[in-house]
Amino acid sequence: MLGLPGLLGLLGPKLDDILLLFWSVNHQPKELAMKAVAISAHGGPEVLEVTELPDPVIDDNEVLIRVKACSLNHLDVWIRRGLPGLKYSTPHVLGADIAGVVAQVGRLVKNVKPDQSVVLSPGLSCMHCEYCLSGRDNLCASYDVFGTRVDGGYAEYVKSPSFNVIPKPEKLSFEEASSIPLVFLTAWHMLGERVKLKAGETLLVHAAGSGVGSAAIQIGKLLGARVFATASTAAKLDKARSLGADETINYQEDDFLDAVKRLTGKRGVDVVFEHTGEATWERSIRSLTRGGRLVTCGATSGFNGNLDIRYLFSRQISILGSYMGAKAELLEVLGFFEDGRLRPVVDRVLPLEKAAEAHSAIEDRAQFGKVVLVP
Ligand SMILES: [Zn+2]
Repeated sequence: MLGLPGLLGLLGPKLDDILLLFWSVNHQPKELAMKAVAISAHGGPEVLEVTELPDPVIDDNEVLIRVKACSLNHLDVWIRRGLPGLKYSTPHVLGADIAGVVAQVGRLVKNVKPDQSVVLSPGLSCMHCEYCLSGRDNLCASYDVFGTRVDGGYAEYVKSPSFNVIPKPEKLSFEEASSIPLVFLTAWHMLGERVKLKAGETLLVHAAGSGVGSAAIQIGKLLGARVFATASTAAKLDKARSLGADETINYQEDDFLDAVKRLTGKRGVDVVFEHTGEATWERSIRSLTRGGRLVTCGATSGFNGNLDIRYLFSRQISILGSYMGAKAELLEVLGFFEDGRLRPVVDRVLPLEKAAEAHSAIEDRAQFGKVVLVP
């Protein structure tokens, strides 16, 4: 006969295993669900689904941000539609421009504290390659932007490396702060660093109503240029003038190349700020004066642009590509919001659940400035 003690003795090791398993299941870090808008397939705005996802878990050098506002960019639309070669795990959370409050900091984080109001630098990079170490982190081979390969801000929480977390300018609301990083960094890098715009030069800015266009008008004025801005409606042209545009061109009623020639006495402009691509490309180049520079950061209307090479060399034109900007440049440009020399341009604020409506607005060019989502 085995008896009870003998039986327990036989079961003992197994019972321990069972008890341990029971304990560990009940002591797993609880997977808190956060509200988010995520995509699981490419397509139209309808693929943006309101859902719940586990809260992000931070590493020792990361910060958890409670998102208070996330502004949209055309980049979000491209990623939603699908870009060749771009892979991410699904469900994927879009959103590059994030402002919020620090919810939790990793053990090694020294630069921010819980409850601090912050804005995130949208560009992620390795921070140890030759480009990163020379302050040109937007040239890093592993450069990424929130919401592109990693999850972004269309959610209640997002995690970030500590060096992307910047104190929010105090006088700005979260909605305003989230409207700054990507477009102002992009326009600052294009006009300040790439074409080195000088006081007194003439600058043509396409699509004044876009986020990057509304930033470029202001930066053009800040750097002392005479700014010509194009838009599709009289109301948008009024707003462009209120941001500082000296001359405005309604491209629906007037060919912008003819208008530029007329406004400059056939000379052409020193610099064209391009981001519309195929629809404007050839006429943008022909809008330049001899020795002029064209700088581009996008191609929302199409990817192919013709170029007569004879025109390029005989008129000594420069064509410059630009993508985002360095983290240091973001700190630089943020300084101009403290004293009001630059201002965020918020078109509308929508609840996170209306992400699809927000995408439709920027695809239809219905906005002037930035569309912001709040969770
Ligand atoms: Zn790097």
